[in-house]
Amino acid sequence: MARYTGAVCKLCRREGKKLFLKGDRCYTGKCALERRAYAPGQHGQSRKKNSEYGMQLRAKQQARRYYGIQEGQFYKYFEMANKKSGVTGENLLQICESRLDNVVYTLGWASSRAEARQLVTHAHYRVNGNKVDIPSYLLKAGDVVSIKDKSRDSDKIKMVLESNASRPVPTWLDLNRETLEAKVLALPTREQIAAPVEEQLIVELYSK
Ligand code: SF4
Repeated sequence: MARYTGAVCKLCRREGKKLFLKGDRCYTGKCALERRAYAPGQHGQSRKKNSEYGMQLRAKQQARRYYGIQEGQFYKYFEMANKKSGVTGENLLQICESRLDNVVYTLGWASSRAEARQLVTHAHYRVNGNKVDIPSYLLKAGDVVSIKDKSRDSDKIKMVLESNASRPVPTWLDLNRETLEAKVLALPTREQIAAPVEEQLIVELYSK
């Protein structure tokens, strides 16, 4: 399925929760969900309650949209999570969190996950000193992510770093703001993951 290229605020309004897809704007009163807290479309204000299946489907869509992952890839992550020991739902979120584009966003090196994807594709970041331009690249504990030397002088990267400098970084990432390097200390536990997602519902959906 092709990547969604429409207005991303509609996705939040459809899901009825903030998915933080638009960078700084999401934290201001300009957020579309705060101004129009109902689903888009003619019948947006008269939607009925979801069935059990509907709720499971919505939970899956929310997670996919939050992380910007396509259906096929997301299902592959579920299969990976299911094979790992531990809680499948937590494993699934851990895999999503360990994507390079998500880590770049979480470090404040991009204003949104969509921007992170684009900047990764343009090869602005390194993993353990090596060029990696694949947004879905999965990081593991001990990996070090950095900004390419040449990119540090680019106006775009400077602007992004400046506007996201105050964003708190979770404790599973050790960010050095001087050297612009970050080490993955460990993959995050559920408590360290801020995703507004009910992962158990996703597991129920895919386990049918
Ligand atoms: Fe969602 Fe951000 Fe748009 Fe608000 S501003 S509706 S959080 S994408």
